[in-house]
Amino acid sequence: MDKKVLIADQINEKGIDELKDIAEVVPNFTISNEELLKVIKDFDAIIVRSRTKVTREVIEASDKLKIIARAGVGVDNVDVQAATERGIMVINAPESTSITVAEHTMGLILALSRKIAIADSSVKSGKWEKGRFMGIELNGKTLGVIGMGRIGSQVVTRSKAFGMDTIVYDPYITKKTASELGVTVVDLETLIKESDVMTIHVPLTPETKYLISKPQFEMMKENAFIVNCARGGIINEDDLYDALSTDEIRGAGLDVFENEPPKNSKLLELDNVVLTPHIAASTSEAQRDAAIIVANEIKKVFKGISPKNVINMPVLDPETFNLIKPYFALIEKIGKFMIQTAKGNINEIDVTYCGELSEFPKHDILTRMILQEVLNPILNEPVNLVNATTVAENRGIIVTEGKRYDAKGYKSLIKVEMKSDYNDVSVEGIFTHQQPRIVMINGYKVDVEPEGTMLISKYKDKPGIIGSIGTKIGEHNINIAKMQVGRKELGGEAVMVLKVDQIVPEFVILEIKKLEDVHDAVAVNL
Ligand code: NAD
Repeated sequence: MDKKVLIADQINEKGIDELKDIAEVVPNFTISNEELLKVIKDFDAIIVRSRTKVTREVIEASDKLKIIARAGVGVDNVDVQAATERGIMVINAPESTSITVAEHTMGLILALSRKIAIADSSVKSGKWEKGRFMGIELNGKTLGVIGMGRIGSQVVTRSKAFGMDTIVYDPYITKKTASELGVTVVDLETLIKESDVMTIHVPLTPETKYLISKPQFEMMKENAFIVNCARGGIINEDDLYDALSTDEIRGAGLDVFENEPPKNSKLLELDNVVLTPHIAASTSEAQRDAAIIVANEIKKVFKGISPKNVINMPVLDPETFNLIKPYFALIEKIGKFMIQTAKGNINEIDVTYCGELSEFPKHDILTRMILQEVLNPILNEPVNLVNATTVAENRGIIVTEGKRYDAKGYKSLIKVEMKSDYNDVSVEGIFTHQQPRIVMINGYKVDVEPEGTMLISKYKDKPGIIGSIGTKIGEHNINIAKMQVGRKELGGEAVMVLKVDQIVPEFVILEIKKLEDVHDAVAVNL
């Protein structure tokens, strides 16, 4: 066997067995970093959990290393950047913990509904307080699931076994996925108001930070429970404490905290909380599955088949890289623009490469880059050039790529069209004078440098509307730096792009939308 795999942290035996027919497997679960530096040059792959640190130094000391595999989800102990620079794949097993976390979620829900944790400490303290621990049944109750990814979907399946009615809030899932899982998709406010139990399964992003705070607790049913096995910081813990201590809600189950461990948290004083130390993913089955998944991924690579869970990007050959590099900045801006203007689940993304660019090789890299920009802000798993197409496919997004010789008078042009449940967005961009520019938005001709904060409004083309939008912005002390207007016909619908010096808050957008003859407004930050 010419391939050698180093197993640097203890993983499940089944993962090791998977590899034995294809490679020489060297388990060394206590290897030190100094030893690793000496031996790494002999290995084609290394498997770690969280003990071993695969640093830049280790990566640079390697010679034929092709894969760094993390038998688990997070890759904090691997220098992914250094690996990418050396063309070494970093793979993980993101799906290995989904069932485990879903089961823990159900565990917290049951612990809350039947007061198991507090009843347990009461019995252990010698008491027999049968009357104190009256619980509630889950049967017939409404479960609200925020985030319907890998873990959220597993929770939904399990909640059905408990006879719960399930509603879901996830603006990014397709109708097809929702109907396959047989769930009702609602908006966040409806979910909050109607849930007897609310459970969170979204990544922590700027959009989900403090997603559940005072106003949301005020909307919740008095008897509702909330559970968070996702990430600390999605729930505002001070507001949660207030809601729990004033009986605004019935209870909370938390596996994750803003600061871990939550040493001085006031939540520790309360009876109506059940807390676990970030162990939702800790089961032997999850560890076994992680080991088997990464072993199979390594086998695929050794056999020349593309693995599924690569989290870094491949190195392009220099010639292709130089040809397409100028378009990276344009693609990044178009992707960011699209995801900030799309409403609801994305169903379709069509990319057309026009002019000279249509003759270049490796368009798929640019398309993947758009998918990366569009999907990364909404998913927990890192989306990169290697897995972007698979992730889009798994989410039911239809991606098409086209080529057109005509580039409307430009040397090259990229057109991206995105269809979501509630709107279609189309953007055309060029790269000129070393700068990306957006030249068309939804069929309206513009010439915009995609940089900074913009307010995009659609309105009826008639005197006074531009002024009323400008006045509204001025009222809130927001300075306009530049203005661009596009229209198809006199008196029809027009689009205005205002470059502004400050972020336009959501309440100002709402006020603009209410102005007469304004059809839509959205703020975009590029
Ligand atoms: P995933 O990427 O498969 O799914 C995330 C889902 O959230 C996606 O469907 C996405 O569309 C949705 N989403 C994104 N932004 C949203 C928003 N603003 N509102 C509503 N929905 C939104 O992720 P996953 O593997 O299911 O993981 C979910 C969470 O669980 C993550 O935060 C992850 O870090 C956490 N997690 C915790 C543990 C633990 O030990 N407690 C273990 C594994 C994962």
